[in-house]
Amino acid sequence: MKIFSFGKRFLSMFIIISLLILIVPADGDCQIRVRSEIEIPDILGFLTLKCDFHMHTVFSDGRVWPTIRPEEIWREGLDAFSITEHIENHRYRDDVKTNLNRSYELAKPGAEALEIMIIKGAEITRKMPPGHINAVFLKDIDKLRTEEYKDAVKAAVDQGAFVFWNHPGWTGQQPEGKSIWYQEHTELYERGWMHGIEIVNQYDYYPRAHKWCLDKKLTMMANSDSHDPINFEYNFHNGEHRAMTLVFAKERTIEAIKEALFSRRTAVYYKNMLIGEEKYLREIFNESVEVDGADVTIKGKSRVYIQIHNRSEVSFELEADGEVKDVSIPKNIILYAGKTVLLDIQGKSEKLTGREKIHIPYKVKNLLIAPDEGLPVEFKIDATFIPAEKK
Ligand code: ZN
Repeated sequence: MKIFSFGKRFLSMFIIISLLILIVPADGDCQIRVRSEIEIPDILGFLTLKCDFHMHTVFSDGRVWPTIRPEEIWREGLDAFSITEHIENHRYRDDVKTNLNRSYELAKPGAEALEIMIIKGAEITRKMPPGHINAVFLKDIDKLRTEEYKDAVKAAVDQGAFVFWNHPGWTGQQPEGKSIWYQEHTELYERGWMHGIEIVNQYDYYPRAHKWCLDKKLTMMANSDSHDPINFEYNFHNGEHRAMTLVFAKERTIEAIKEALFSRRTAVYYKNMLIGEEKYLREIFNESVEVDGADVTIKGKSRVYIQIHNRSEVSFELEADGEVKDVSIPKNIILYAGKTVLLDIQGKSEKLTGREKIHIPYKVKNLLIAPDEGLPVEFKIDATFIPAEKK
């Protein structure tokens, strides 16, 4: 009895000590500063840079000290960011000295150490209309502190800034969350003082703004508008990522990002969705997807398999876009991120013979080229049909 109880105590002590060794890391063994890469390919000879042009810190109404932002950006696999404090709303003015350029200055050394590009920006924060407007690539933010919003936008444009309308359908400023375009926006647009619109802000997508960007040739943007530590706002353990703007830039520099934004070479990465002009989304799809075994022999009504590999981190959700004459195809198929899936096709006739090029049409539902309009794609297959053997 005694021996048993001694043995039990020894065993529990052994377990506790072993657990402590596992849990408490020795100095220098604690490795938590890890960057995850965002797997979306470069296209058309451009680099696909991942950017967030809208964030806050305690220098306006955020809850983060500016030096935290660069490492968040680095860890999440982004390339560039802007801290865009509200010019007119400095919540902690009694605790933190007001200086509109200061959060940028504080974040800059950390960004440079991690080779992250930091772009000086600010948010002109007015009631609707015109609502909230971001200006990035600024030189001196203090010059944007004006009575009239138009003077603030002019001061930004005079500094060569890229100006975009933030969250146009934000429920805080728009009834029912519908994006409404006012005369004030026409005026900014006609003066050439509005270059882009956030079609996604944080968790919200604004289809009307998406349409405006297509019709009025404005740059499509998506940003986190982060106020808290980023992992308070997105659940990275569940595979979530912040809303971000993909910028197709000639090189990895701030000047190249600016050139790409003014040239409207962007797309939006939001949840498991990409939104943008067809020419860019098509290239992202083509560069991500590889088809193997596209030369098949179909005997009568037998099945054959095409292997499709998706090397991007976006799972493409495909829906059949019409019938195919001589074969049956699945109505829906998901090309899972980083995986290979089988597309099984089946002959329709026992008697068919000959060689044929088959075009299999799908729509990618989560690659949006317009509101509610997925990217059309085709898989091309060389099929040789032979009749089924007679029984
Ligand atoms: Zn904001």
